[in-house]
Amino acid sequence: MLEDKDRIFTNIYGRFDQSLAGAMSRGAWDGTAGIIEKGREWIINEMKASGLRGRGGAGFPTGLKWSFMPKSNPDGRPSYLVVNADESEPGTCKDRDILRHDPHTLVEGCLLAGFAMGAVAAYIYVRGEFIREREALQRAIDEAYDAKLIGKNNKNGYDFEIYVHHGAGAYICGEETALLESLEGKKGQPRLKPPFPANVGLYGCPTTVNNVESIAVAPTILRRGAAWFSGIGRPNNVGTKLFMLVGHVNTPCTVEEAMGITFRELVEKHGGGIRGGWDNLLAVIPGGASCPVVKAEDIIDCPMDFDGLRERKSSFGTAAVIVMDKSTDIVKAIARLSYFFKHESCGQCTPCREGTGWMWRVMERLVRGEAHKREIDMLLDVTKQVEGHTICALGDAAAWPIQGLIRNFRPEIERRIDEFSRNSHRAEPVLVA
Ligand code: NAD
Ligand code: SF4
Repeated sequence: MLEDKDRIFTNIYGRFDQSLAGAMSRGAWDGTAGIIEKGREWIINEMKASGLRGRGGAGFPTGLKWSFMPKSNPDGRPSYLVVNADESEPGTCKDRDILRHDPHTLVEGCLLAGFAMGAVAAYIYVRGEFIREREALQRAIDEAYDAKLIGKNNKNGYDFEIYVHHGAGAYICGEETALLESLEGKKGQPRLKPPFPANVGLYGCPTTVNNVESIAVAPTILRRGAAWFSGIGRPNNVGTKLFMLVGHVNTPCTVEEAMGITFRELVEKHGGGIRGGWDNLLAVIPGGASCPVVKAEDIIDCPMDFDGLRERKSSFGTAAVIVMDKSTDIVKAIARLSYFFKHESCGQCTPCREGTGWMWRVMERLVRGEAHKREIDMLLDVTKQVEGHTICALGDAAAWPIQGLIRNFRPEIERRIDEFSRNSHRAEPVLVA
């Protein structure tokens, strides 16, 4: 469990002083110029040594990603840092808290990351619904400009601009290449990768896209050292992490904890226990809507990190831990997620455009039991046709919750079909896929 002295985002625990003076009193902007003096190579190596893995959901090593950026720009193309603050994964609300309460961690992180990758500017793409968050962030950026911490000829010795861009509320614009399209003023549709943004990113220039939390933890890592960060958690799953406890816990919250804390410890220490007690726990979606659901008995003693959840055939995602007690209609809950992904599909590729709608319609019939048992395997087969066959990860995200449901709760789906058959006096429901 994380000790208070190891917390980075102390301001989310009720202090709510997000001003520059408040941030400085908690250690922000301390020795920033000295870190820059150590040079790009040193920063990137330190970030690699820290073991930080991207906090947006995919867990790609952050230092390695920064190292993909060109060391010089002989062809005259500028490099950019883009910060993904389009946090939209259902259940996820950690970047929101950083923007609201600790925006200077992000602003300082942008300068240090931008310097490390030779970027001239950072564009922070903020989710459309985040009005207060965008205002808090803009205030922090203005304060940093006024105090000459960023901008031209600043005290930290590296000229760097920061711009805020307000999105318009489309989930798909959180996909990094759709976000770049949107920033360029086009319709937010994902691009094929490769090329990755480090080669062809914003306006065709070398770009790194990082999540808010990944950038906001960087200054503290660089101040306290890679060894400090990598000493928290367990190998391959290190550092502190913002967890969101949502759903049927007694006190839902966002909290910074050590990677690898068990689900039980997390809920007991910060969530006030499961509503109705531990015997009332049904299942958990551990990392935001796109992660497969895990049954209660499989998650209680699970280390909450990338490897722990992979071993449970799920994923860590954004660490948005959606807790469901026995009052939950689990089939209906997953059907609701299917509707979400169908609604948010950009429609660009056929397996996702057609598949998400098809999967949702079958899920709706499974909720009512108005289906044939053969359709369960047919649905599973369709999820496999969608998974891995689309331009971006939204196709996978639509498939995985259904796969998790069928793997863990097939008897419940079959029970509904049997009940519907009994009530409608039919030996077999009509197949209407
Ligand atoms: P990804 O694995 O394709 O990529 C992760 C990052 O690594 C990207 O920046 C990508 O450019 C980079 N990368 C991967 N391979 C690379 C290579 N060979 N060379 C250079 N760079 C490389 O995953 P993704 O599609 O970016 O993200 C999917 C995840 O996003 C899901 O797991 C989900 O948890 C998460 N997600 C988060 C939110 C949110 O609100 N935070 C919303 C939706 C989804
Ligand atoms: Fe668009 Fe879906 Fe294809 Fe992604 S997978 S590009 S959201 S149609």
